[in-house]
Amino acid sequence: MTDFQSLGLSDGLLSAVADNGYDAPTPIQQKAIPLILAGRDLMGLAQTGTGKTAAFGLPLIDRLLAENEKAGPKGTRALILAPTRELVNQIAKNLISFLKHTPLRVASVVGGVSINGQIKRLGKGTDILVATPGRLLDLVDRRAVDLGSASYLVLDEADQMLDLGFIHALRRIAGLVSDDRQTLLFSATMPKQINELARSYLTDPERVEVSPAGKTADKITQSVHFMDRTKKSDFLVEQLQAKPDGISLVFCRTKHGAERLMRKLSQSGIAAGSIHGNKSQNQRDRAIRDLREGRINVLVATDVAARGIDIPGVSHVYNFELPEVAEAYVHRIGRTARAGAEGDAIALCAPEEIGLFRQIEKLIGIEIDVAGGEIPPMSAAAGRAKRGGGNRGGKPGGKKPFHKQSSSGDNDNKSQARRPRRRRQGGRRDAA
Ligand code: AMP
Repeated sequence: MTDFQSLGLSDGLLSAVADNGYDAPTPIQQKAIPLILAGRDLMGLAQTGTGKTAAFGLPLIDRLLAENEKAGPKGTRALILAPTRELVNQIAKNLISFLKHTPLRVASVVGGVSINGQIKRLGKGTDILVATPGRLLDLVDRRAVDLGSASYLVLDEADQMLDLGFIHALRRIAGLVSDDRQTLLFSATMPKQINELARSYLTDPERVEVSPAGKTADKITQSVHFMDRTKKSDFLVEQLQAKPDGISLVFCRTKHGAERLMRKLSQSGIAAGSIHGNKSQNQRDRAIRDLREGRINVLVATDVAARGIDIPGVSHVYNFELPEVAEAYVHRIGRTARAGAEGDAIALCAPEEIGLFRQIEKLIGIEIDVAGGEIPPMSAAAGRAKRGGGNRGGKPGGKKPFHKQSSSGDNDNKSQARRPRRRRQGGRRDAA
């Protein structure tokens, strides 16, 4: 078995690794750490929960220590970009845990909090700056930060940054960082645009892949229950009540849907919280802390709010509504079974979601076990497909879809039903 000692990290870093309780490097760490220490640009294709942060953080810190330089006023020696505030805070926290016995400093900047404190903090310069692209550019425009001396650039969850419309921000930021830099790009999926981004910003990169794009972690047991959408919330209440010791994440598509579902769960006596774009940063942080510290055991979330956050011990991920984009399913269920643990991913699929369900199965390359209900015919999704929804050629007509057969007694999804199928989030900063 490869151990951390054989990867070339300095002794100081090895003791930080031991302090963190890491016994052996994860596969992405085994592959990426020696390459980054050797100064190579890297394109890492890795799912969430694979130990990515330490994979780039440890060698980056080692290189900064070896250089023994100091950042000038407003300067930073390394810049890490991530799509969401939660992910930025989590990366910074992880890095700080490795820096305990070193003189290096980390600063983080995110939107949604006062900019003045950040301006003051950056004035002294920092060794590592972790930022969301939007807030970073606000700070650049106010001349509060100088990126010209940064000789390391890390783009984390690059696919999500593109989904959020950060492409122009990334191009601008990359132009401000020193040309003579080491660039590391991590992404859970590798769509064409990411390859293009890598070609423009990486020099002769090494490609490191820990599991094929779109493949879900082996340790996650996946199942699906087919049911009418009006039955979903009662079903979820039963499931959650049957597992009082579990820690569950429940994914909804919309902020309002997530909030309504959280209230319904709370009314049913389940200790639940929610995170989505309508919550302030403090409220989001508190909800995540409540889950980590056991004050709640269910968190209802939208995709962007939950992306990248690391909550140890999530035992169940519920796809209360299937995501519009199949890749998001992989990100969602990657919230469980992290760092070697096991987990359950349970999808609730209504007849009108069958096209989305088939796309997910196609992406992950496996048939998900049917744990309840009957697989609706693809024709159930035909009405949706005609309005622009995706299915794989379901024939119109045939059996009447069951969402038309029953009256809608539960309004969890009403706003969803009226929503156009594909909501682009492009252009929004730190959205949803
Ligand atoms: P990440 O993919 O960076 O978000 O990491 C996911 C989780 O795995 C975090 O809680 C890390 O602290 C943890 N982790 C990272 N590397 C290791 C390791 N080598 N051994 C045990 N846990 C780790």
